[in-house]
Amino acid sequence: MDVAKLSYYPFLTQAAAYVGQMDSSIDDIIRSKAYGMPRSRARSRVIQSITGVIGEDDNKPDIVELLSYPIARILVSCIDDDFLTRRYALAEAKFANARMQKEDDYGTLLEIGADFNINASIVDKGFQIHFTDYIRGAAGMRAINWKLVNRRLRSGYVNITKEEYTRLLQEGIRVRIFNSLPLVVPESFCLALEEYVVEVRTCLEQSKKELGEEGFGEMEPGSFPPCIKHLLASAQGGVNLAHSARFALTSFLLNIELSVDQIIQLFGVSPDFKEEMTRYQVEHIAGGTGTIYKPPSCSTMITYGNCTGKDILCREIGHPLSYYRKKKTIATIETGGKADEGHPASPNEQTLPSNEPASPNEQTLPSNEPASPDKQPVHSDESPSPNEQTVSPGK
Ligand code: SF4
Repeated sequence: MDVAKLSYYPFLTQAAAYVGQMDSSIDDIIRSKAYGMPRSRARSRVIQSITGVIGEDDNKPDIVELLSYPIARILVSCIDDDFLTRRYALAEAKFANARMQKEDDYGTLLEIGADFNINASIVDKGFQIHFTDYIRGAAGMRAINWKLVNRRLRSGYVNITKEEYTRLLQEGIRVRIFNSLPLVVPESFCLALEEYVVEVRTCLEQSKKELGEEGFGEMEPGSFPPCIKHLLASAQGGVNLAHSARFALTSFLLNIELSVDQIIQLFGVSPDFKEEMTRYQVEHIAGGTGTIYKPPSCSTMITYGNCTGKDILCREIGHPLSYYRKKKTIATIETGGKADEGHPASPNEQTLPSNEPASPNEQTLPSNEPASPDKQPVHSDESPSPNEQTVSPGK
């Protein structure tokens, strides 16, 4: 791939190798005036990952776009906040997917797949991948059409559309980025980037405040408020929810950090499930129009007849999110801090198992991508790719 393509897909092994062989050191890139543009774009990547989606910045040279990625990762590592790391990994993966969707050169898509050990070939207007790669990639997809039994298997291969292929890659990218963060970053790097670190922290705190909490961690359906349990059961039972009920359920699930796809998967068990329509509605509530919605308060739920099954805990709270947070806390205390044990992984914790071996040197910077030694890869058994190891221009 040339530098233009690498700047589009900076998480690839080849992109890290390209940056690694540059004459400038990581120290230069972090401090020198000459690299002000990549640092500024890195800041945008991270801020946008908090506030919505990462957008294109077409007027910048390719090398600026490419270098902005490792700097953004350093920035995220300096802050070292789990909520930010999740959001950033997801936003980068979605950004990559948007670019892959526009890719006319299917050879490039195959190259990206190969970087994730996906054995694919081009057929008609789509792709054919080995069923083992399909199962590995679709493990986190709950919509019925992702089930292998609903696919035609020919000599061990499954045909998928371009959209499905890039969606599988999106999950692989998200897991790779999440598992490789935070990097072990020297304090001096964070000090050099202090202006951006402060700005991102402020934006992060604001975002958490707007969400009314500090992130919910792993999803615990057992701690859902009665109203949400009822709405979810209804949706999954094929009941056609009123708009206010669908909005309450979807916005609640988005606010506890389920992705659009995970929510669609939850709705996907409904017999009258229509993916296209559901996706449109969920994406709208998720901020497709630029507004990210908070779920309705209990008083609004009561007004619209969506407060069902009130229990004792409901007397102490005024918002379904407060109920969930409180119930999770109680469960944690009751189980001695181990509330999550025994629970199945949440849909957003579903993984894209990987064949990628753990790198022996995933402990340190100067590097693009080493995993922190104390990072627990909660999402996946995918280890950071070897290409995720070397940010540093190696000087
Ligand atoms: S009081 Fe609030 S949290 Fe409880 S069931 Fe009603 S809307 Fe849900």
